[in-house]
Amino acid sequence: MKLFLDWSSYENAGMGDAYADIPKHGADFAKAVAVCIGSRQCEKDAKGVMCPSFRITQNPGLSPGGRVRALKAALNADDAAAFFNAELAETMALCVSCKGCKRECENEVDMALIKAEFLAQQVSRNGVSLRRRLWAELPKVLRWPGMRSLIVWRNKSPLLAKLAELGLGISARVSLPVPAQMPFQIPSQSPLSLHPELADKQVVLLVDTFNYYFNPAAAAAAKKLLTRAGYYVHIATPLADDTEDRPLCCGRTYFSNGMIDKARTEAQRMLAALADHIAAGRSIIGLEPSCILSLRDEYLKLGLGEPAQKLAEKVLLLEEFIVREQAAKRWALAFNAIPGVSSLLLHGHCHQKAVGAIKSVRKLLKQLPDLKFELIEASCCGMAGNFGVEAEHYDQAQAMAELALFPALRAEPAALLVSNGFSCQQQIGNAGFTKPLHLAEVLCLAIPSQD
Ligand code: SF4
Ligand code: SF4
Repeated sequence: MKLFLDWSSYENAGMGDAYADIPKHGADFAKAVAVCIGSRQCEKDAKGVMCPSFRITQNPGLSPGGRVRALKAALNADDAAAFFNAELAETMALCVSCKGCKRECENEVDMALIKAEFLAQQVSRNGVSLRRRLWAELPKVLRWPGMRSLIVWRNKSPLLAKLAELGLGISARVSLPVPAQMPFQIPSQSPLSLHPELADKQVVLLVDTFNYYFNPAAAAAAKKLLTRAGYYVHIATPLADDTEDRPLCCGRTYFSNGMIDKARTEAQRMLAALADHIAAGRSIIGLEPSCILSLRDEYLKLGLGEPAQKLAEKVLLLEEFIVREQAAKRWALAFNAIPGVSSLLLHGHCHQKAVGAIKSVRKLLKQLPDLKFELIEASCCGMAGNFGVEAEHYDQAQAMAELALFPALRAEPAALLVSNGFSCQQQIGNAGFTKPLHLAEVLCLAIPSQD
């Protein structure tokens, strides 16, 4: 089996353990699968918020451990076709790559990463379906002329939505996200030479594909916040000799659709663009949790060597950066009460939890006077990138949201909603709730106006 990801960090996993039960085929990938010790803790309902697909179905085969059992059976079979059977494909399709198992399983089974390799194997054997290609190529598709009008038209026309469902498997019951009228515009900024006092307060803001096209207000808010706090903010842009006429992208859409080579190309483009900033020791600050997880975690599995390691060490989510700077007494901006807002509900993106950033969000929200806030104890919202808009997954995606997220939102209709994940914002907005704000926007409401 030719592996697409670099599984060498599992090289010694289970070695010398007679009970490790490492499958016959799959080399280090098989060792990553065999990290599961079969304790079945993930099949107990009381076990945290792990595995939304198990929680909505109560089917042990759809728990992380159940997936491991199915994968082991396939990797032990001498017929390679066992890895491509329809039953295993369905079991893996219902994993939403939330990283809940990596975080909560006692042995840190990383099913999201295992699924990325699984999909790459599927794509290599069966090719890429049109729908999968559409999701994966989103950073390019969003550049197509008329794309915004087409999405608006599709959302308004039940006939067009039905045709898209029949032809592409995009659920007619879901509104597709509409790009902003104007994507993020890089604000003009006076040269650093005019601000020598900021020479050692330079940071890099990474505006990901989703915030760039769909939520430029969040990116603008982050830029304003950092500037007001006394930082010189570089916006990450492609190198001058970059031949692609589009912003930088982490490559997640390719990675999560099994197109690993293209994900690697995106990552190399990103690494080239950030190389000088990294060499200068600047923090790279991101807004979308899944993009930051890509840079911190998935790039390390793409065989990109030391540059990827160095980037991973410099990347922070906005909330992590602010809390770190506050702890170092470098953050010079206090937060006020937000006029007219007394209660707030926070929905954490799965990958925000995976990188441990929720505690930073909580620390920041605690600093806002006169605000009662609550973290919704929920796992995946169900949207999970493209999962929630796929016709065959719509019901499961809604069931995931109904586990805890939607009931919590219904219970507090007046609360301001905060969620940093693009997918979560869509899932919540599509269900008729007010579309959540990004934390950057909320914090911007809490800083003194300059007039
Ligand atoms: S995935 Fe984790 S919790 Fe589930 S059976 Fe395996 S080791 Fe136990
Ligand atoms: S990544 Fe999430 S959905 Fe997939 S097996 Fe792990 S907990 Fe379940």
